[in-house]
Amino acid sequence: MSKASKDQRIKLYKDHNVQLLVSKFVSGELSKLNPVYDDKYGYRYPVVDAIVGDPSSTDELLRSLFEAGVLKRELYDKIVYCPSCNTANVSMHYCCPHCKSFDIRKSALIEHIQCGYIDTEEKFRKDDKLVCPRCRKELTKPGVDYHKAGVWCTCNECGKSFDIPVPAHFCRDCHRNFSFEESLYRDVYSYSLTPEAMKEATLGWILITPIREFLESRGFEVESPGFLKGKSGASHMFDITASPTGVERNITVIDLATSTDDIASEQPVIAMFAKIYDVSPERACLIAIPRMSENGKKLAALYKIQLVEAKDQKEVIKEFEKVCMTE
Ligand SMILES: [Zn+2]
Ligand SMILES: [Zn+2]
Ligand SMILES: [Zn+2]
Repeated sequence: MSKASKDQRIKLYKDHNVQLLVSKFVSGELSKLNPVYDDKYGYRYPVVDAIVGDPSSTDELLRSLFEAGVLKRELYDKIVYCPSCNTANVSMHYCCPHCKSFDIRKSALIEHIQCGYIDTEEKFRKDDKLVCPRCRKELTKPGVDYHKAGVWCTCNECGKSFDIPVPAHFCRDCHRNFSFEESLYRDVYSYSLTPEAMKEATLGWILITPIREFLESRGFEVESPGFLKGKSGASHMFDITASPTGVERNITVIDLATSTDDIASEQPVIAMFAKIYDVSPERACLIAIPRMSENGKKLAALYKIQLVEAKDQKEVIKEFEKVCMTE
């Protein structure tokens, strides 16, 4: 996943609604977010509607979470909306391909296996029995005497017959007839948390929150994520920025390098160096979870980035205090 989408995710995690939704996945309360059918609006996501308060913003939130790689999606259904009034309260019509009437009669085609005669079921019907109109034998055993050979439709309007009807729609609300071409035909998804977001949420929130609280208890003003403007004029984002309350400069920047493997690569060291080169903070700390690669350690030393390695919440404060809070 690209760096850009990671930055996007970190911004989204700041949003209280996003935190509420993601925490439902992290806690296991939600493993998959499935849409629930609603006659009028089509599919809804009541869990998300309840979080955002305004159901009209639900789709946009889900889309931005999908685009940033917080959620992954899976096609759940397709839905037809009326192009005039936008309702999902739409019925399906199968129409005559000749005159477009939906007043058609659908029958089953039956083949009498012994003599090979094929006709519609009505032609075989004699009271409650099936009798072959050609050879007059009675058909009793499906699959042995006879089998279904498809469907056959007859139009009550123009009298013509055909095997494949043309689909069309009827809006039950505004009563408009419309074709598939005119319809609004949309994807409906179910959503779940991506592995990246699951990791970022568990590690990020579990680790950033205690560091933040620790710094605040030491009299720092903390922003998470924090944005600082560099000499180049560009604005850079750090997982945490902190400065002693009431002091103009003396800035500490902190980034988190998490890894799904055992060892974090040097990539976050390089990325952090590019930012601190521009911003020139007084102190830069990189917290590697659980460990930093040898290359990363050498680079961090060269770039004067203080490196903290911690495998969990308990260790992170202890190590952070030892490495970053001593002059
Ligand atoms: Zn017709
Ligand atoms: Zn027959
Ligand atoms: Zn309509």
